[in-house]
Amino acid sequence: MSRRAVVCGGSIGGLFSAAFLRNAGWDVVVLERSRTELAGRGAGIVTHDLLDRLIRLAGAETTDLGVQVTERVAFDLTGARVATLSLPQIVTSWDRVHSLLRALMPAGTYWLDKAVSGYVETDGQVTLQLEDGTTEAADLVVGADGFRSAIRAQMHPEVQPQYAGYVVWRALAHEADLPADVRQSVFDPFGFFLPDGTQIIGYPIAGPGNDLRSGHRRYNFVWYSPVTPAELADMLTDASGHRHDLTIPPPLVRESVLAQMRRFADSNLPEPFLEILARSERPFFTPIYDHLSPYFAKGRAALVGDAACVARPHVGMGVTKAAGDAEALARALTGTDVVTALGHYSFERRNAGQVAHDTAQRLGSYIFSGGSPKESPANHDGRSNPRISVIMAETAVVPAALL
Ligand SMILES: Cc1cc2nc3c(=O)[nH]c(=O)nc-3n(C[C@H](O)[C@H](O)[C@H](O)COP(=O)(O)OP(=O)(O)OC[C@H]3O[C@@H](n4cnc5c(N)ncnc54)[C@H](O)[C@@H]3O)c2cc1C
Repeated sequence: MSRRAVVCGGSIGGLFSAAFLRNAGWDVVVLERSRTELAGRGAGIVTHDLLDRLIRLAGAETTDLGVQVTERVAFDLTGARVATLSLPQIVTSWDRVHSLLRALMPAGTYWLDKAVSGYVETDGQVTLQLEDGTTEAADLVVGADGFRSAIRAQMHPEVQPQYAGYVVWRALAHEADLPADVRQSVFDPFGFFLPDGTQIIGYPIAGPGNDLRSGHRRYNFVWYSPVTPAELADMLTDASGHRHDLTIPPPLVRESVLAQMRRFADSNLPEPFLEILARSERPFFTPIYDHLSPYFAKGRAALVGDAACVARPHVGMGVTKAAGDAEALARALTGTDVVTALGHYSFERRNAGQVAHDTAQRLGSYIFSGGSPKESPANHDGRSNPRISVIMAETAVVPAALL
């Protein structure tokens, strides 16, 4: 008789977990809190050979996964090239990866509008409790419910995401809307702007409907910007005066917050990136948090992806790490009892999470290495960042220890 797993959360970590467990013979159901099918905000994801391999291992095709970039280029404030690095990579979008995995779910195994509130372990079984008052019994519960995980809150009530001191503004511009000189200068490479105290990266991704044709793609703009806790509290407050906890839905960001961001951009960003920002759909921000759970499983409950550990986006590992967790979980469960398997899983992936987490913190710290442009104009133009080579070589690259 096949064993039953209930996966809490139907995003990337949950779908990878479902695919690998089902491939290993498990009966799997995914419970997703959202009432409607998930849709990313279209923003970009950097892929790695490791992710490509894991998507195929899960059972999906990776043909036309995304846009192939061949080089990395750092620009200065005038938009001139400061440094280049040859580094072929495929860049894609959250939606693309999610839809590939979502298509693997057999009908009736992905349940929307199912918010999990906790779980109870009894001898040989685990029972999930849902906010609607129902329960689901299983042999295994997988907490793939993101950085505010209800499963982690029960397993590790002491673990709280820590604010890193900066936010990321993201925006998408249609290639066809950009002036010819911007398309020619910054559009094609994986671009950087690296002055003191702030950081921009950007790259092309597919257009709507995974359109990879030149002229039909979009530019993914990513801007890390320091924000004090007091400023963040204000940014998380919507027009009605309600202060949101940790993040704010993009449509609720006040116009004055957007206007302030644009004013700062006007005096600190290179012209090509300003052109991209000006022609983008409404930019949105996400505060940067990280956390690392002390262990990734206990009894019959396992944590995967952002529920277990969030590595800041500089390392570009959110999706790949979730895939690696899911693969390791299913592999550990082969041929042994659940509780023993989860112990092995936790050991293996906690170490991997630590590497990604620490690497991302180090890369994030480089933003602040020379002070803020508000305080120190030393490298205001992005030409003399002493870490330009290491940032270009290590951003969104799998750390060697995880290969
Ligand atoms: C809509 C969306 C868009 C994203 N876009 C990007 C992007 O453009 N670029 C990028 O780098 N990263 C993006 N991310 C984050 C990135 O996808 C994650 O790092 C990566 O997907 C790891 O995913 P995860 O499944 O561990 O967590 P998440 O992607 O955060 O997913 C957690 C899921 O669990 C669900 N959930 C939460 N609590 C409960 C509960 N109590 N019961 C049931 N379900 C619950 C949530 O609704 C969510 O679907 C996005 C995430 C989401 C959800």
